[in-house]
Amino acid sequence: MTDFKGGILIFLEERNDKLSKISLEMVAGAFALAKEAGCLVTGVLIGNQMEEAIETALRLPINKLVICSSGSLGDFDSDKYARVMEKCYKEINPSLVLLGSTSVSVGIAANLSVRLSKGFVSDCINIETGDEGFCLIRPDATGSVHQRLVSETGESLICTVRPGTFSEDDLEYSDITPEEVFVPWEDDVSKALELIETVYEKKQYADITKARVLVSGGRGMGSAEAFGQLRILADLLGGEVACSRACIEAGWATGPMQVGQTGKTVHPELYLALGISGAIQHVTGMKDSDLIIAINKNPAAPIFDVADLGIVGNIENILPVLIKQLQERKGDV
Ligand SMILES: Cc1cc2nc3c(=O)[nH]c(=O)nc-3n(C[C@H](O)[C@H](O)[C@H](O)COP(=O)(O)OP(=O)(O)OC[C@H]3O[C@@H](n4cnc5c(N)ncnc54)[C@H](O)[C@@H]3O)c2cc1C
Repeated sequence: MTDFKGGILIFLEERNDKLSKISLEMVAGAFALAKEAGCLVTGVLIGNQMEEAIETALRLPINKLVICSSGSLGDFDSDKYARVMEKCYKEINPSLVLLGSTSVSVGIAANLSVRLSKGFVSDCINIETGDEGFCLIRPDATGSVHQRLVSETGESLICTVRPGTFSEDDLEYSDITPEEVFVPWEDDVSKALELIETVYEKKQYADITKARVLVSGGRGMGSAEAFGQLRILADLLGGEVACSRACIEAGWATGPMQVGQTGKTVHPELYLALGISGAIQHVTGMKDSDLIIAINKNPAAPIFDVADLGIVGNIENILPVLIKQLQERKGDV
């Protein structure tokens, strides 16, 4: 039987003194895994002026919170952050290290993996416990095969977790306050890279992972103009517009709207799929939506295999009627 006693070490991402959504999701997932494995969970917070983030982290169901705070850690720097994580790793000797599959954390994970000479498994979409230890599940390069990876030698693995893999809603808050451990920052190593400035991109798009309703279009929308109609439908339903990769390639939509293996994983209450065939790479990202309604003219389209309700028909005829009916109900017409 595998020994999970090292527990799970999580890098908690923080920005502007707030814990990111992926951090909360990973804690929810780690909490459930730790319950099964009977092990401890440690969170690591790295940055500067993190009072609010620390307060939130101290309410999380983790056993230990390691804090490394310093003026020189205020700007994200994968090399410095990996050095702190390395220190934590050597103290705790965890069985599994979790970081988010985000632009920030992937750099730390790769750096940490080299520093520790430990295996790095990227972009996991699930984690299970078993006789061989933690089993990491990730799509292969084509997205049509899911790989199940375990450490053959029993050594711990470093793993990045795709946003949406675990749900923040499953977070169970407990009365146990995590033990707080402060780690000093020692900036005594000569740097191979120096960070000059961090420039944050201004978000001009909605976060589809947070929408309760997603109106998602595929190549079957036919044109940019028709795709644009989805905004009207989404507004009527109080939702956001998402899409398949084909729409990004066609130039009708932008990258942050893409659902699927190389896009976002979403769990809305309603996922309305219009003109989407249901390729495995797309379905991977939306199959766990509460209610899936698909409209497609091909009755054999694979999207109907995951849909709760399927409408076989031509979008050109259905969409205008749907919009008109909703407008009438809302009194907009
Ligand atoms: C490594 C890799 C990663 C990938 N990652 C992603 C990913 O993250 N997300 C993603 O979406 N894809 C991804 N893909 C691409 C994926 O394989 C599909 O090619 C893509 O999802 C197809 O998009 P689609 O369903 O919109 O288009 P199509 O497959 O062309 O389907 C269009 C559908 O619209 C229907 N249709 C056409 N006209 C109408 C009409 N007038 N009325 C009603 N229905 C109509 C058709 O019957 C068809 O089912 C990836 C591929 C690879 C190889």
